[in-house]
Parts: sequence; C-alpha cells; structure tokens
Amino acid sequence: MTNPIINKLPKAVFFDQDGVLFDSMPYHAEAWVQAMKKHGLPYTAIECYRNEGRTGSGVIRELCQRVYNKDASQEMIDDIYSYKSNLFVQLTGGKVPQTIANIRDVLTFLHSNGVQCWVVTGSGQRNLINSLNDTFNGVFTGIISAFDVTHGKPDPEPYLKAWERSGFAKEDCMVVENAPLGIHAAKAAGLFTIAVNTGILPDSDLTAEHADLVLPNMSALLDWFRNA
Ligand code: CA
Repeated sequence: MTNPIINKLPKAVFFDQDGVLFDSMPYHAEAWVQAMKKHGLPYTAIECYRNEGRTGSGVIRELCQRVYNKDASQEMIDDIYSYKSNLFVQLTGGKVPQTIANIRDVLTFLHSNGVQCWVVTGSGQRNLINSLNDTFNGVFTGIISAFDVTHGKPDPEPYLKAWERSGFAKEDCMVVENAPLGIHAAKAAGLFTIAVNTGILPDSDLTAEHADLVLPNMSALLDWFRNA
C-alpha cells in the first residue's frame, strides 16, 4: 500500500463527475453506440467505457481510421456528435441523470468532517455543471470543467489545476475516479487515486492505469474514509 494518508482524512478530495457523481455512463454508452451505428461504425459499450473522458471527435476519428482507413470528415464528426447529444437528452428525458448510489453519503461525511470536495470533469455540459451545487447541497468548494483547461484528461492538467487552486500539498489531496483515462490523468498529476468501479469494465482496466486502490462501490469508499 502506497497510501501516504491511510491514517487520516485528506484535506481535499477531487471527484470526477460522470460515473462518480452521476449514473450517466449507461446513457452515454447507448447514445454513442447508436450514433456510430448510423454511420456504419461498429462500437460497443465496453469500448465506450474504455474511451470515457476522451473527446468525441477524437473517438470518432480513431474509429473511422480503424474501420474505413480514412480520416473522418468534419461533417461526419458533427453529425455523429449532434445525433449522440440529442439521443442522450432523449434517453435521460432531458433531466439530470440520477446520482450514483451512496455518493451523497460519501460527500456528506467528508463535508461534515471539514474535508473539501471538488469536482474535476471533462464535461462541457454547462447546465449540468452549474447545477452541481444545487444537486449536492452546496458541498463543493470548487469545480474544474472543460471550460477551465486547455488539455483534458488523460492529460494531468485538470487535476493539477484543482490541486493548485486548493492550495494544499499533494499528499493532502486525493482523487476519486471511475475511468481508465481519468485515473491516468490523476496519477500523472501525482495524486493518490481511488478508482470506484461503477461501470462494466473489469477491475484490471483500472489497475492497469495504476489506481492506488480499486473499490466496488461508494459504500466501500465511505467505509474506507470512515476507517482512515
Ligand atoms: Ca468518469
């Protein structure tokens, strides 16, 4: 165990959004699979979970190269992305997706023990981001979104920005992630990283990115914090 803070609570925890705060990944995956299919691009939910955090255009370009051996046109990228976005809204009924089971308990525990909670997301869904503190009773000290960074995950920039703004030492901060690229970003930023496997990937996808700890759900995370 390389956990430098196993015996005390951290001063700040940086939470990813999709798949950590919101149970939104099943909808994203379904929307991506359907949108790709419309253009003859075979894409699976597993691949979608593996690509979580990558830009939409990046994923489309890579898949188009692999399947058609050519560059995706901007028109194709725009069409797939808008189809996906519209389908996502349809699937969620235009509402904020439901929260991940027991994440509220984790946030409440940390907040009431004086631990700062931050959101670090690659999301550019402005409405969702603006509603975070309403949805979670004002627990968040700060939010880093797509609007705050030049390079998204798996680049470390989003997590480095949260750490800088927090003003704490790295050993007093930690990250809660669910996705391989997010874990990669957090570890590249030099932060202790707990992966909570809320999706459909095997744990090995998360340990491959050197998560310090992989837990099955938020109840296990709450227990872990309680025992810290
Ligand atoms: Ca995520």
